[in-house]
Amino acid sequence: MTAPLVDVDALVKSDQSRLIHPHLAGADTERIVMVEGSGCQLRDAHGREYLDATGGLMLGHVGHGRRELVDVAAGQMSKLEYFSSFHEFTNEPSIKLASRLIDIAPSPMERVYFTSGGAEAVDAALRMARLYHHRRGEPERTWVLARNFGYHGVTYGGGAATGMPMFHNGFGPMLPHVRHLTPPMPFHPELYGGEDPTEFCLRELRQTIEEIGADQIAVMIGEPILGAGGVVIPPHDYWPRVRELLAAHGILLILDEVITGLGRIGHWFAAEPMGITPDFIVTAKGLTSGYFPMGALLVAGHVADVVTRDEGFIGGYTYSGHATGCAVALENLDIIERENLLAAAVEIGDHLGDQLRRLEELPIVGQVRQIGLMIGIELAQDPATGEPLSAGWVAPLVRERHGIIIRNNPNTILLSPPLVLSRSEADQVAAAVTDVLTEYATTAKRRVSA
Ligand code: PMP
Repeated sequence: MTAPLVDVDALVKSDQSRLIHPHLAGADTERIVMVEGSGCQLRDAHGREYLDATGGLMLGHVGHGRRELVDVAAGQMSKLEYFSSFHEFTNEPSIKLASRLIDIAPSPMERVYFTSGGAEAVDAALRMARLYHHRRGEPERTWVLARNFGYHGVTYGGGAATGMPMFHNGFGPMLPHVRHLTPPMPFHPELYGGEDPTEFCLRELRQTIEEIGADQIAVMIGEPILGAGGVVIPPHDYWPRVRELLAAHGILLILDEVITGLGRIGHWFAAEPMGITPDFIVTAKGLTSGYFPMGALLVAGHVADVVTRDEGFIGGYTYSGHATGCAVALENLDIIERENLLAAAVEIGDHLGDQLRRLEELPIVGQVRQIGLMIGIELAQDPATGEPLSAGWVAPLVRERHGIIIRNNPNTILLSPPLVLSRSEADQVAAAVTDVLTEYATTAKRRVSA
């Protein structure tokens, strides 16, 4: 281990007294001061090295320390760092990025609205959906259908659509006129009372539309694959059937591709392989691989025509269409294409997934779900019943013992490394997770039989 690069104790003390961290309980807990990264490798202020198997928060597609992105940002900043995109003002990188996104997006997408992140793009989609109906003479269409276990950010719009109680408790009241439905989670048959999960979900959706009234509902929002909810991949006919039902009732569909978009599952967007034709696609994360805080809302032509007419779409973010952010995003997409990272996500993802699926033999692993480089390992007290087992202990152990950073939701381990993960790095990740879970499973069994 090398000498600390900075006065780490002073930094940590200052952090502990000055910063509010998301999702951190207790003021005096450990801090890890990250100082540099390259590819999937990270180094903290003590000189300790880590393998980033989370891509920060499920992004970082092109990996850390990419000189090309630094150069593009510096070049753009030295010409024009930023100017407003409100009214008639615009800039070359944002125009080019919008065209590029439409080129790679599925066919109904025709226009782009830029934001500073995912939740802002979700909020913009909700506002556009309501405005669309309002301008077409149906102002009473205000309800939003969302899903339990869905995650759409923590603004009041996205937060209300998020279907996890921890994001609502103590923050209420939430945005009214939001109803959460059940998503299909085939590993949890207990949620569906013996019915097929897709049939249950479709019946629930039909009943909800009937109960609220189709003429009161603006839009439904969902992730093609639940991300923070545990990497839950729906049965193949779920989304096309949901889409068909919504369309029959004039209800719009927002597909939240903040995680799945721009390469993580081996496609530019999940909509295409999953056979979904939404009215909006929300993207962020992989758009800039984290080199700039940015999101983009892609809007289908028939919706864009309505929200841009009359006085246009009122409401923008200061950093919408940020020249430097858009230039960075363009180069980031070029890198993804140049280095075939869509194919890499599938190849390395399958390689890692093949090793991790063996963990299903352990008595504490319920199900391993993998698509591209999006992986969830759901723990269970008893895999036969799916009774949940907390996953909170796994990430700290894997980090301490193996220097690998992973995440978890309450009972699922989440892996989402940069798409530049090498085979040997994938092997390290698989070996580390296997080591920690196997030891726990063995000692737990010993505890039970003792
Ligand atoms: N939607 C999804 C599916 C997400 O995973 C996230 C972030 N994890 C968001 C929206 C919110 O994005 P942001 O944190 O950039 O606002």
